[in-house]
Amino acid sequence: MNTTSTQLGATAPIAVSAAHVDSVGPLTVAYSPDFLVWMLGSGDGSHPTNPVRAQLATEFLVSELAGATSVLDPTSLDRATVRAAIESVHEHGFVSRVVDDGLDAQWSGRRPEMGQTAMTMFAGTMVAVENMLAGTSKVAFNPQGAKHHAAFDGSSGFCVFNDMVWAALEFKKAGLRPLYLDWDIHAGDGTQTMLFETDIPTLSIHNGATFPYDGMTRELSLAGTRHVSHHLENHAFNWCIEDEDGDDALAWALGEAMEVIDEYQPDVILLAAGADGMGGANNLGVDNTYTYAGFTAAAHSVAEVANRWANGRVLIGGAGGYQPLTHTPRVWANVVEEIYLGVN
Ligand SMILES: [Zn+2]
Repeated sequence: MNTTSTQLGATAPIAVSAAHVDSVGPLTVAYSPDFLVWMLGSGDGSHPTNPVRAQLATEFLVSELAGATSVLDPTSLDRATVRAAIESVHEHGFVSRVVDDGLDAQWSGRRPEMGQTAMTMFAGTMVAVENMLAGTSKVAFNPQGAKHHAAFDGSSGFCVFNDMVWAALEFKKAGLRPLYLDWDIHAGDGTQTMLFETDIPTLSIHNGATFPYDGMTRELSLAGTRHVSHHLENHAFNWCIEDEDGDDALAWALGEAMEVIDEYQPDVILLAAGADGMGGANNLGVDNTYTYAGFTAAAHSVAEVANRWANGRVLIGGAGGYQPLTHTPRVWANVVEEIYLGVN
């Protein structure tokens, strides 16, 4: 296993037993070259979210989980079906502005190709859910998924369409009890708000002193200190850590989150596996200090709890990660591998 890897490129292939693939299915990875169109900002690749991170993570998984990774291109889905799915969770005028007019606050000017790619990224999560519900794969990953700041009627924080909200509701429709866990360094505010009136639990571990600065995922008066901000009646849980906090803070929050998960006993876990708490230089000014070991330990906990309650089912979205050419794809691949190899 390369799960403590700090090597930034692909590592040696991991021998995955045929029995593991038989029991868990292949790892489904949603990837399309269309993801690479998602150049925000000036479009020259300097934006913190450079989508090359998704390509690199996919390449790592394909070469390291040799023979156990199934890459599916979400552009194969019928576009009208994708649009209907997006409109099932978002306001139609907002969807039309993005898809029909190519307009959104996350970029400037009219860029119809960006509207199409926003759909493709959302469709990546649809492909993942489809395979999980069909029983083909227990673990599926969309590197351009978990757009957790997106709200019902508008985009926010580089997120346009909230694929995880759709996925949670889709699992629920299929008779499963989903639970959403988010360790991106920014609060999963859009997802929490959109699921707030449902009985689907949302758990977010984030820096409480940074974007999105809302009062629902933190206690504003306590920003800058470790604290919790739970809304028990709405099944919404938030653990806020501080600037410069690292693995011990993540472990503290995740330890409590695991107790909450044990109480809910979900049938499927949705994970927003943001890599943006990673230490080191990054393109967004994030100053938290998670390490490879911290992410791997967190992924190990998710695999354990998925085995305990969810028959090993975990849907993973990449969420944020602002070291797109270095740590982000490596963290994502490590996390996905740890979970895929850890479930049974
Ligand atoms: Zn983030």
